[in-house]
This record gives sequence, C-alpha cells and structure tokens, in this order.
Amino acid sequence: MDAILRTLDGVDPRGRRALVRVDFNVPMADRAVADDTRLRAALPTIQRLRRGGARVILMAHFDRPKGKRVTAMSLAPVVAPLSALLGAPVAFAEDCVGEATGREVAALADGDVLLLENLRFHPGEEANDPAFAAALARNGDLYIDDAFSAAHRAHASTEAITHLLPSYAGEAMRRELEALDTALGNPRRPVLGVVGGSKVSTKLDLLRNLILKLDALAIGGGMANTFLFAQGREVGVSFCEKDLAGEARAVMAFAAEHRCELLLPIDVVVAGRAGSGDGARVRRPGEVGGDERILDAGPATVEALNRAIDAAATLVWNGPLGVFETPPFDAATSAAARHAAHLARSGKLIAVAGGGDTVAALRHAGVLDDFTFVSTAGGAFLEWMEGKTLPGVAALQDRAGEGKP
Ligand code: ADP
Ligand code: MG
Repeated sequence: MDAILRTLDGVDPRGRRALVRVDFNVPMADRAVADDTRLRAALPTIQRLRRGGARVILMAHFDRPKGKRVTAMSLAPVVAPLSALLGAPVAFAEDCVGEATGREVAALADGDVLLLENLRFHPGEEANDPAFAAALARNGDLYIDDAFSAAHRAHASTEAITHLLPSYAGEAMRRELEALDTALGNPRRPVLGVVGGSKVSTKLDLLRNLILKLDALAIGGGMANTFLFAQGREVGVSFCEKDLAGEARAVMAFAAEHRCELLLPIDVVVAGRAGSGDGARVRRPGEVGGDERILDAGPATVEALNRAIDAAATLVWNGPLGVFETPPFDAATSAAARHAAHLARSGKLIAVAGGGDTVAALRHAGVLDDFTFVSTAGGAFLEWMEGKTLPGVAALQDRAGEGKP
C-alpha cells in the first residue's frame, strides 16, 4: 500500500474533545440491544482515548430515520449496555448538534464519555452537507473514525467532517484494514478466493477484482449455476441468471488471461421443484434434470475445494456455497468452513471472510471465532474487495511521502 493510515499513535489527546464515529447500528429487540458485538468492537478506541485523558464524544447512526427524528430509532437504548461494558458512566445528548449538545460537551471532564443521538435524524448527515459537518465539528478538537462499515458512504460524519478536524483511524478501523490488507493487499501466497451467494449480477466487480489478485478462485452458490449454464450445462429450474451467460464467459476468459485458476462445481446437490430437503441427491453437472433445482455443491466439489484450501496460504471467502439456511443444503458450506477453520486455528492458513450471509453461514457452521478475521462490515467489505476507494478510509490516509496535516 502506498497510502498510509493516520492512527492515534503519537497523538496526545489529553484534555481534547475527541469526536469518535462508531458503528452502533446494533440489532435491537423491544428497544433493547439484542447483540452487543458492535459495542464491544468500539471499546479499544474508547478506552485508549479515556486512558489518554480525552473527552470522548461518540457519534453514530441507527437504522434509517431518513433525516427525521423517529423516537423508535433513538440511540438511547445503547447507553446502559455501553456503560456496563466500559465500567464507566456514559452521558447521552438528545441531539447530535445544537446549543444544548454544546453545553453537554462543555460539561465533560477528561476521561468522560458522551453519546450523541442518531446522526441520521438530520438530513445533512447522508447528504454529506458541509454545514451539518461544521455543526458536528464544533464539538470536537479531533476526529476519529472507528466505523469501517460506514466508510463506503461519503456522509457528513465520515467524509465532510474530515476536512474540518485532524482525522485519525480508530483501533477497530485499523484492525479491519490490516486484516483486509493481509488478505488481498499484501497476502501470503498462494491466495485462494471462494465466492458464492446467489447472484453473479451483484458480484461481477468483485469477481473481476479478485481475479487480478488471486491465484485460484472457487465459484459456488447460485452464481455457479450461471457459470455452468454458460458452459452449456442443464441447470433445470435452478436459480440462474441466464442473461448473464456472456458475462460469465467473459469472467472465465479474464481469469485465464490473468492466470487465476477457476474452480467450478464438479458435482452438485439437487432437489425437486419445491426445493425441500427430502429427496436431495447428488448429480454431475451434465446429469441435472429439467425439473431439478441445484441447491448446494456436492461432496466431490467439497473434496476438491478442501484440497485447494490445503494448497493455499491465504483464503478470502464471500458467499455461501449453497442454500445454507435450509439443511441439508448447508453441508458444503459447513464442511469447507470447518476445514478452513481447522487450518486457521493451527496457524497454517490465514482465513478472512465477510458478507452478511457469509457471517451467518460461518456462525451456523460454528467456526466464526476460528477464522483469522471475519468482517461484519457488509457493503463496505464488498466494496473494499471490489477494489473501490472507500471515501471514509481515503480521508484517513496520507499518500506515501506526504507529511501529516
Ligand atoms: P453475502 O451476504 O455473504 O455477500 P449473498 O447475499 O451473495 O452473500 O448470498 C447469500 C445467499 O445465497 C443465501 O441466502 C443463499 O441461500 C443463497 N444461495 C446460495 N446457493 C444458492 C443456490 N444454489 N441457489 C439459490 N440461492 C443460493
Ligand atoms: Mg447477502
């Protein structure tokens, strides 16, 4: 990487107002935090700043209130669990900008923590409005972004504000970017990619960028059906984007051109039209019947994939290999995930994964904690994998050779 991330190393935050963008878009049930993973992820940065004597002001969005105050989308339910995790009081400001909020900020002592109300109650947030960013910046002396999952959006709290305050990456942001760099930026080779999921259409950019970086790429899930169809194979009533057959052939040619070995399913698990688990059977690609539906990769494919995982030093995975939500069509995903997890645990493989359904599939397989790194960032993870510049990340980087601002 020729871009250098500005971190808090060497920054003395004592007595300064540290405005920290965090991801507190947590699952809630009955207005209570149902899963505190994202709160825990923010702790290292908050604790580091508190230990350094900063006055910590947290800003976050929750859900999609679309620029209006929606009581049910308040961040207030976060205060108690966050305070319990920190072992310290957390104050709450009923708005993220304005005079009353300014007074709450002014009342903070060194080491105190204040959480601001949902940024998206104001339309200026998603509009990346400089005036709204200025209103936010009035409450800070420095800005720290710890929300990688929001970094693919140029919003006032992730982009515009970086033009107004000295800006740094927090600990979670740093860790995520380091993990992604280990997987794709500067990986131990050979690097194997696994891309599954449903649609080729949403992952064309991903496939093309990965082909440039990987030594081998295994394609599974619904999108593999489109590739099999593009090779002239019968896919019956499977999910298949037939209009993308040309694109699939172009991806295969692109892989050959860039010496990235493509692994397509050599057998599949099918069911009848209804797609239920009863009567699931294994077929070679040429044997799929016109009324059959491909719902998972077959055992020979898993065997070949596991051998490819054995040969790899680094694995990057996005997208399940089958309809893992409906057993027995979770078999291939779970088997390959467990194999990768075993190697990662014994230090033989760097295994990095991400994607909303991928995280669910790895959790289902019971291997979430065994992978080297699992990104829960969703859209930001995919855009990073696609090779795109994330505005919220670019704003925290210096080009090599440039000094700090
Ligand atoms: P992620 O969220 O990790 O990026 P995707 O959203 O691309 O993953 O894909 C996940 C979905 O793909 C799952 O809901 C799964 O059921 C579906 N899927 C996997 N294999 C098939 C298949 N053979 N046919 C239809 N859908 C599939
Ligand atoms: Mg998904």
